[in-house]
Amino acid sequence: MSTVIPHWVNNAEFVGHNSASTAVTNPATGAVTGRVALGDSDDARKIVDAAAVAFPAWRDISLAKRTAILFNFRELLNARKHELSSIITSEHGKVLSDALGEINRGQEVVEFACGIAHLLKGGFTENASTKVDAHSSLQPLGPVAIISPFNFPAMVPMWFFPIAIAAGNTVVLKPSEKDPSASLWMARLWAEAGLPPGVFNVLQGDRTAVDELLTNSAIKAISFVGSTPIAQHVYTCGTAAGKRVQALGGAKNHAVILPDADLDLAADAMINAGFGSAGERCMAISVVVTVGPIADELVAKIAERASAIKTGDGALDSDMGPLVTQSHRDKVVAYIEAGEAAGAKIVLDGRDIKADGGADGFWLGPTLIDHVSTDMSIYTDEIFGPVLAIVRTNSYDQALDLVNTNPFGNGAALFTNDGGAARRFQNEVQVGMIGINVAIPVPVAYYSFGGWKASLFGDTHAHGVEGVHFFTRTKAITTRWLDPSHRGINLGFPESG
Ligand code: NAD
Repeated sequence: MSTVIPHWVNNAEFVGHNSASTAVTNPATGAVTGRVALGDSDDARKIVDAAAVAFPAWRDISLAKRTAILFNFRELLNARKHELSSIITSEHGKVLSDALGEINRGQEVVEFACGIAHLLKGGFTENASTKVDAHSSLQPLGPVAIISPFNFPAMVPMWFFPIAIAAGNTVVLKPSEKDPSASLWMARLWAEAGLPPGVFNVLQGDRTAVDELLTNSAIKAISFVGSTPIAQHVYTCGTAAGKRVQALGGAKNHAVILPDADLDLAADAMINAGFGSAGERCMAISVVVTVGPIADELVAKIAERASAIKTGDGALDSDMGPLVTQSHRDKVVAYIEAGEAAGAKIVLDGRDIKADGGADGFWLGPTLIDHVSTDMSIYTDEIFGPVLAIVRTNSYDQALDLVNTNPFGNGAALFTNDGGAARRFQNEVQVGMIGINVAIPVPVAYYSFGGWKASLFGDTHAHGVEGVHFFTRTKAITTRWLDPSHRGINLGFPESG
């Protein structure tokens, strides 16, 4: 294919200085549908420079005008989200309804950012000292970079850019090279909404492009989402270069099912959270921890439901799409093989699925594995596929210990009808996002999204007030008016009086 998916700078496409590119595929057919430009450091510098040039004017535009553009973007997105969901499905593989779901969750953050005026108000104290007033204001940082993963090509960038832009920053988005077209669609939408040139830019590419963002002194902050090793690398390099960094990493989310839980509700929830988006969600449940004697009954309920899932092309009438690439599909299969070899029991095997899609699609059906132990790679590693592992325990304490000793700390869920147990779990569990009878507890936009431990490097979560905090810095101003006597010379430290 000759189509090259370009960069976006100053509200126009930019093909880049070099001819390097990589293939983009439709995971449901295996066909190469285009190629995406791989930016080098010259490309990255040109795009960062544009964001730096645009910053002073954008920062000085009134809040009223900035938020009017945010409202325009929200209206256009809401009206045309079906175009974006088709693009996501064609490059990521997730089913259309799921693609629409991620856009809706991203749109929530745009709506939150439309009300940013309230959150950008500083404080004011009259007469903090005699005839001296004190106030604070929140100012943008400058050009900021967003580096996003393949699994949410629209929602994850939208966790950050609406707030960054609303607060007066300019943005360079480096999307995943596996599904880059959503970024360009959103860039065009911004231009249509009236965003001035240089405020929202897209740099296509891989680690070469990222390396320039990590070291370029014009970039003041980095919001990264991806796997834990790269998150750690981005955090280390970005902070060493003096930047503000929030780096969200991988996950291994557990759902603990207590003996008193409604097992039908729990089984339904495990299906949705384990196999939705083919398990390629950072909030997917990948480990079901059964407590006490319910394991056989729960496993049977999950298996019955999982075998009814229709795996196929996300653009057709399917429940679950393919994995994103052939190599990722093969990696997930290798984990299933390793689990089997280590003695786990395959209850439902997705390896030979007959999917409703192309013969060369990257298919793997729902897979349920029982009697998994904590030394197996299928337990220790993030798999990121449609694989649910069952770990059987005898007590709440044993189950809690499992969650708390796991190096990841993104999400965890508890299924129970016991309010006291739920209250204890939410207090004791060492993860950032908790669901009680909710398997995918992704916080709404006005709360913040983020994990603990190896699931997040930095101290600020995404969106909500933490997002506003991340994309602004504070000035404290002390003012004296109407006090003609300056009280003479005094070399002492200024005290309130
Ligand atoms: P990834 O780490 O491979 O890539 C993420 C981004 O980093 C991409 O833009 C990629 O181009 C870039 N990148 C890749 N290798 C790099 C390198 N060596 N140096 C610099 N940049 C590099 O992740 P992915 O496979 O695209 O996404 C899946 C991962 O993201 C999973 O681990 C998942 O749990 C995680 N994720 C986490 C969250 C969260 O909120 N914690 C949300 C979504 C996804």
